[in-house]
Amino acid sequence: MTRPAGGARRHGLTLVFTGNGKGKTTAAVGLTVRAAGNRMRVFFLQFIKGQWKTGERDILRGLPGVDLEVTGRGFTIERLRNPNIPLEDHAAAAAHGWSVAQQIVREGDYDVVVLDEILGALNAGLVPRDELIELVRSKPPLLHLVLTGRNAPPELVEVADLVSEIQPIKHPFQRGIKAQRGIEF
Ligand code: ATP
Ligand code: MG
Repeated sequence: MTRPAGGARRHGLTLVFTGNGKGKTTAAVGLTVRAAGNRMRVFFLQFIKGQWKTGERDILRGLPGVDLEVTGRGFTIERLRNPNIPLEDHAAAAAHGWSVAQQIVREGDYDVVVLDEILGALNAGLVPRDELIELVRSKPPLLHLVLTGRNAPPELVEVADLVSEIQPIKHPFQRGIKAQRGIEF
């Protein structure tokens, strides 16, 4: 595997994008593009299977150094696949996603790991809070770890290096405007 990029001053950060406003996942996608442009390796794991096939998935997969997986659909990377989980079983798939997330973080083969909507999985009881906090505390020192989702718990805010809360001021849904291609998905 490739060694993590960066010099001696590299300080692996834990970043949290939370809040009820729109822009958490798109911020994580933007960071992924930025890191890939710096020849860094990124693992992007999407926790909650969306209703739509979002536009970023295939394009991120096509970027050099980026691997992207979606829980609930089965893992395409062969070594991450769990043949015992039927794809319909989303709870079991999310639990498997969590074990993969822990494995990927601990192996340290990536420069950036994005756990998109992990906080949704946490709030749904699919990811144990103490295990998530422990993973953040014990992550490899050079790894940048990005977590997104609403309602970041105080214990996570405590251990994170950067927390941005996106506040909804206006949203077109409030005026009955339906989700727009390229904007919402
Ligand atoms: P995005 O993926 O666009 O960056 P997000 O990750 O911040 O959004 P999520 O909480 O993951 O937001 O929600 C996913 C989708 O739900 C987004 O497309 C967002 O526009 C939409 N959404 C956010 N707030 C509302 C709302 N109040 N009512 C309806 N839909 C909303
Ligand atoms: Mg999101």
